[in-house]
Amino acid sequence: MTMDASHVEVERFVAGGEAERLSARELLGYVAECFHPRLTLACSFQKEDSVLLDLLLDVQPRARVFALDTHVLFPETYGLWRTIEKRYGIEVEVYEGPSLGRQAAVHGESLWESNPNLCCAIRKVEPLGRALADAGCWITGIRRDQSPTRADAPKLGWDDRHELWKASPLADWSDADVWAYVNEHDLPVNQLHERGYASIGCTHCTRPGEGREGRWSGMEKTECGLHTVAPATAD
Ligand code: SF4
Repeated sequence: MTMDASHVEVERFVAGGEAERLSARELLGYVAECFHPRLTLACSFQKEDSVLLDLLLDVQPRARVFALDTHVLFPETYGLWRTIEKRYGIEVEVYEGPSLGRQAAVHGESLWESNPNLCCAIRKVEPLGRALADAGCWITGIRRDQSPTRADAPKLGWDDRHELWKASPLADWSDADVWAYVNEHDLPVNQLHERGYASIGCTHCTRPGEGREGRWSGMEKTECGLHTVAPATAD
């Protein structure tokens, strides 16, 4: 199949509960068949993304993969980025916001402290919109047990905000399931996981911690806005 499966066809598949019954590999095979080359994996270099990359590139070696470079990722994350490109012979597409200098000139220094929602909107949410502009389906590493905000994530569902399908093949995987796959396949993972970082984002907003507790630690903020229904606002 070279064109996107019709919306109605996928809608029927999802409504019938078929997507929920598929394994991660089977779901990736389904969305690759339906949407490639308008299928793209959002890679943030978490251990979940290491698993998804390995499965997806096995199913569709020419699948698109993109990353949001906020310019304040950890050196270990940039290191893993290079390792993954070398291991799989791929080039990860890069989407990014303005330079840090430009952001500081317009909004002041350390926007991640004064207004992290606006910082995420500028450095993540807006670039994500461009990354998904010509896609029919995107793949994410969301797992339901990562946080209450992710507990109801479907394996495949319509993303109203971006107007495309969103696949989360690892939605029903546990942390232990992810580590078992990583170890069994000797996958490269972010070295920060070994140092107590369960979830890894930008340097300014990530601390060691279980689940997503290390993200925006000490703030009410729990999501950057990439996976919420309404965009992050400048409040
Ligand atoms: S996680 Fe922090 S530094 Fe990164 S874009 Fe959001 S507020 Fe800015």
